[in-house]
Amino acid sequence: MADLTRRGFFGTGIGAAGVGAALIGSAEAATGAAGQEPAALRGSVDAGKVSLPPLHAKSELNGTPPNPAAPGKRLGVAVVGLGTLALENIIPAFGETKHVRLAALVSGSPEKARAVGAEYGIPEKSIYSYERFDEIRNDPSVDIVYIVVPNALHAPFTVRAAQAGKHVLCEKPMAATVAEAERMVEACKAAGRKLMIAYRMQYTPEHRTLIDLARSKRYGAVRFIEAVNGQNDLPNGQWRQIKAMAGGGSLPDVGVYCFNAFRYLTGEEPVAVTGLVTRPEGDPRFREIEDVAMFTLRFPSGIVASGQCGYSFHESRMLRIHAETGWFGADAAFGYDNIAVAINRKEGQSSATESRRFSPKSQFAQEMDAFAAALQSGEEPHTPGAEGLQDMRIMEAIYRSAAQGGAVVTLPATTGLDRTRGPWPKQLGSFVPA
Ligand code: NDP
Repeated sequence: MADLTRRGFFGTGIGAAGVGAALIGSAEAATGAAGQEPAALRGSVDAGKVSLPPLHAKSELNGTPPNPAAPGKRLGVAVVGLGTLALENIIPAFGETKHVRLAALVSGSPEKARAVGAEYGIPEKSIYSYERFDEIRNDPSVDIVYIVVPNALHAPFTVRAAQAGKHVLCEKPMAATVAEAERMVEACKAAGRKLMIAYRMQYTPEHRTLIDLARSKRYGAVRFIEAVNGQNDLPNGQWRQIKAMAGGGSLPDVGVYCFNAFRYLTGEEPVAVTGLVTRPEGDPRFREIEDVAMFTLRFPSGIVASGQCGYSFHESRMLRIHAETGWFGADAAFGYDNIAVAINRKEGQSSATESRRFSPKSQFAQEMDAFAAALQSGEEPHTPGAEGLQDMRIMEAIYRSAAQGGAVVTLPATTGLDRTRGPWPKQLGSFVPA
């Protein structure tokens, strides 16, 4: 049978027939081996990293080899809580990570944990119950504990993980109350462990592009920002309906994406906040929590922002930044994928809208790898505990305003940008052409 592999094709096909020499010119002279590509076209290895010569023109989008860390060199992650997010999104994302690997599972459901362990090759000894969780301190395969349980359980698991000597990646919202969030920051500090809040949007090329457009004033100064994040998916009886467990309703669950975005787009912290909340009458799901929340934030530069979130309307995730000579934003802005960036500006006599799409990547893989990079470099994570704590304070102010019929609640003024963030993870690169 003919050898149709690339090497065979070059060796015995075109090259051997003499056609190859005509096509690849001085290939033989460059390699000394008849019928092979020149060495420069086969790529190179520098400091253990493989790079390939560019196949596409410079003007075209180009990828690079992923250059993953070897399994033994990756940081091990224990996932706590095997619910919807963990099983549908986080654990599958390990198939795309380059610097972390799934090392352990922590669950209150032994049978489920065993089944998931079997699917992902996690041995029985690396499966922990909540009661046995503290034994993780003796497990050298675990460097990071990723907390994916209901919001009020974030603080107790963060404290236990830090005390067991592990770094903590915690889902949003950071906690159910400001006091819990403060306790998490203190516990990690006392244990000398890093805490990162899993604000996946901040690690996406789409949101990074919007940040760069806003901060560079490419279309002039930003005047106001608007955002919606909501869905119709609250099954009766879920922990999200219990205020003590969730910390509130749609505001901490999905509204947090909006005001976190207002903060990272501007880099500023709000000085005044208002809020209103509503709930459909007679709907047992909203006995303890709000359905729709509306909020406004005013920033020191004068930028104002308004957000809406809810649990009872058709999925809608919109973000738009209005600047002097253009607007830019995204549809599906806070989704896991298919984020559609759009930029609208004046072009001569017409108004031009440009759309930007990035090649799909798991947001969860990106954020986990970014945490690993921060741990390996010793830098503060880009979204540390301080970032989540500030959102908790803003949320508390929104609820305080809503309790006073929407009265303005002021917050302490801060100066400087990105006061609650660590450096941007360099390995994620820049997404806006210079
Ligand atoms: P689920 O209810 O689907 O899963 C939560 C899991 O936590 C359960 O399956 C269970 O796992 C464990 N758990 C431990 N104690 C309890 C308890 N008392 N009641 C209920 N579950 C418990 O929730 P989600 O996966 O949707 O959300 C988990 C966290 O992730 C939340 O903080 C949420 O805000 C966040 N989240 C973040 C998203 C993002 O895009 N970043 C999207 C969705 C959620 P087990 O059976 O293994 O013990």
